[in-house]
Amino acid sequence: MSHGLIQDARFWRFLFVLDEDLAAEARRGGCRHCGSVLHSARYPRKPRGVSRRVLGAEYERRRSFCCSRAGCRRRVTPPSVRFLGRRVYLSAVVVLVTASSQGLKGERRGRLRDTFGVSDRTLKRWRRWWREEFPVTPLWRGARGRFIQLPDLAQLPASLLQRFEAASPADQLVALLRFLAPLSTVFEHAQ
Ligand SMILES: [Zn+2]
Repeated sequence: MSHGLIQDARFWRFLFVLDEDLAAEARRGGCRHCGSVLHSARYPRKPRGVSRRVLGAEYERRRSFCCSRAGCRRRVTPPSVRFLGRRVYLSAVVVLVTASSQGLKGERRGRLRDTFGVSDRTLKRWRRWWREEFPVTPLWRGARGRFIQLPDLAQLPASLLQRFEAASPADQLVALLRFLAPLSTVFEHAQ
């Protein structure tokens, strides 16, 4: 588990580029209800856990679109490998901090918490989400059949991360973030 990755501006830049592709694809599809052109209607974001200097200004906005036709104006928020809905922590931080906190106790867990400014309460909530809510999401219900060996649900997300074969820990994390990207829009509208 590499925390160095989280401090690497190139990693965040790469995720931003992936998100731009996802957004362009969503925009090309037009409004799902009336087919009209979509206009930009980005959400402001103030992500926590990683410094602004590392993230860059691109992380202060999440792409979203609004139908251009008066009387429709429906919103389309593309999937994202960076943001998990309206959560203030970035997806990569939620995954890495939850995964690396598993099995850690006392001082080491305290250090992890301090590094990312994640409170025990938040960490507990993330763990509960992985244990209780993630397994019942349509994403997981639809995808679990694709795994030859199911990840241990009690050890999510570390067990899920290990199911993605990749050349490096960074690639493995990106593969998981791509997998989770559809979830990022569910929370955006639900909260
Ligand atoms: Zn429309």
